[in-house]
Amino acid sequence: MRRHGNLEYGCHAAPQRTCVGCRVRTDKSELLRLVLVEGQVVPDLRGRLPGRGASLHPSMSCLELAERRRAFPRAFRVPGPVDVTRVRAHLGGEP
Ligand SMILES: [Zn+2]
Repeated sequence: MRRHGNLEYGCHAAPQRTCVGCRVRTDKSELLRLVLVEGQVVPDLRGRLPGRGASLHPSMSCLELAERRRAFPRAFRVPGPVDVTRVRAHLGGEP
């Protein structure tokens, strides 16, 4: 039987998510969970908001990458562009 990635870390490996910006897989705890609320992407800081989430490194460069690649509409399964103003504000970027 072939060994796959996670087995090397034992069966208690931390859950992993893929950043929608840089597409790197990272521990879920290092990523910011985002959810879509009425067409606006908002940071789910307590991990409690319902609905489909997307994961992103809490960095402007990953946010910009995600925007450029139109990753958010894909992640949230919506047809049009979404508003990331609140995520940008959360990350401390210029409006
Ligand atoms: Zn990233």
